[in-house]
Amino acid sequence: MIYKRSSALFAQAEKVIPGGVNSPVRAFKGVGGTPIFIKEAKGAYLYDEDGNRFVDYINSWGPMILGHAYQPVVDAVVEKAKKGTSFGAPTEIETQIAELAVSMVPHIDKIRFVNSGTEACMSAVRLARGFTGKEKIIKFAGCYHGHSDSFLIQAGSGASTFGVPNSPGVTQGTAKDTLLAKYNDIDNVAALIEANKNEISCIIIEPVAGNMGCVPPKEGFLQALRDLCDANDMLLIFDEVMTGFRLAKGGAQERFGIRADIVCFGKVIGGGLPVGAFAARNEIMDYLAPVGPVYQAGTLSGNPLAMAAGLAMLTELNNNEAVFNRLEEKTAYLHDGIAHVLQTNNITHTINRVGSMISVHFDNAEVIDFETASKGNNDTFKAFFHGMLNEGVYIAPSAFETWFITDALTYEDLDLTIKSVESVVKSL
Ligand SMILES: *Cc1c(COP(=O)(O)O)cnc(C)c1O
Repeated sequence: MIYKRSSALFAQAEKVIPGGVNSPVRAFKGVGGTPIFIKEAKGAYLYDEDGNRFVDYINSWGPMILGHAYQPVVDAVVEKAKKGTSFGAPTEIETQIAELAVSMVPHIDKIRFVNSGTEACMSAVRLARGFTGKEKIIKFAGCYHGHSDSFLIQAGSGASTFGVPNSPGVTQGTAKDTLLAKYNDIDNVAALIEANKNEISCIIIEPVAGNMGCVPPKEGFLQALRDLCDANDMLLIFDEVMTGFRLAKGGAQERFGIRADIVCFGKVIGGGLPVGAFAARNEIMDYLAPVGPVYQAGTLSGNPLAMAAGLAMLTELNNNEAVFNRLEEKTAYLHDGIAHVLQTNNITHTINRVGSMISVHFDNAEVIDFETASKGNNDTFKAFFHGMLNEGVYIAPSAFETWFITDALTYEDLDLTIKSVESVVKSL
């Protein structure tokens, strides 16, 4: 494929935008090469500035669960835009989407809308700290909760030590309040709690991790976290920015039957516009300003265009529950197809999948946490990524990402993808 115009546009962008992109993973740094500039998208396909077509497995990193330029969402946004795009005053549609979200997701009474998943997680932790009166938090290595300071902490010299900032600009003071645990290791979590008695406000977790590839929670792990939170007056925060409205109508809480105290949303809830949200039972949500003392605000929060897109998206999902089964069946079909090809070609691999989240790791050890996720062969992944791209299949440009399956994919698209895997692995 030829990427002439994309290359020229990237060179131009690099002069005025750091790295040429407004979010780092778009830059292809993990895989090499220059990013593709997208001109438009429809259904399961992306079209770039050079006129190439790709089957899309990123789907804007999750939101496009029903495909690009999905008609009911587009219509809702266009109609809303004609009536003014922001007022800084309440509108009826905010209540409509709130009512719908609260009806779809278990264990939540109220929801507050923000502009991104980052804001949702940042605000959820502030709320948990305000509610419990405790300052420390537990997060898991390999889980991503957006780019706010408290979350940019990676493993230091061992899980029981204080976190070390993994970006300049995050202060030691902030880092010391974030305790880092190992995903799927309940003893590790219990030890952290024991070592920080009465100081931990909450545990925040991706109930299915999606930012180190797809890593499912082990049987009983989420329930054990729930029990530890109950025993220690800590709140359990499910970051469902990726899993919410994807794994089921009610997200991971519904799928696994585990109650979280605060739930964070993003991605699907905005239908492709910038939306995040966090939700909880009344007792917790009433700690938020203007009712309670915990401050949180936003000039464009609950923006009419964003709410119109989100409401149209959630309405489609709510009225059409079969979509979740369909997504799961398509993803399982892809899983089987790719696994078969990799096996017959003797390519070392592990495929993880939960619902419509799937990732291919080029290592045969079980992938259960950040350490095991990091073992995959990155050179193989790079070659695989570029090979697939050349075949017209666009997967995330990083081995640490889940593929996001969209209902717009047909079985012909899936067969084409499996065929592409077959021709790519022959040259690996
Ligand atoms: C994408 C993501 C975020 C961050 O959301 P943004 O809208 O990019 O700020 C937070 N948590 C999880 C689990 C995510 O996948």
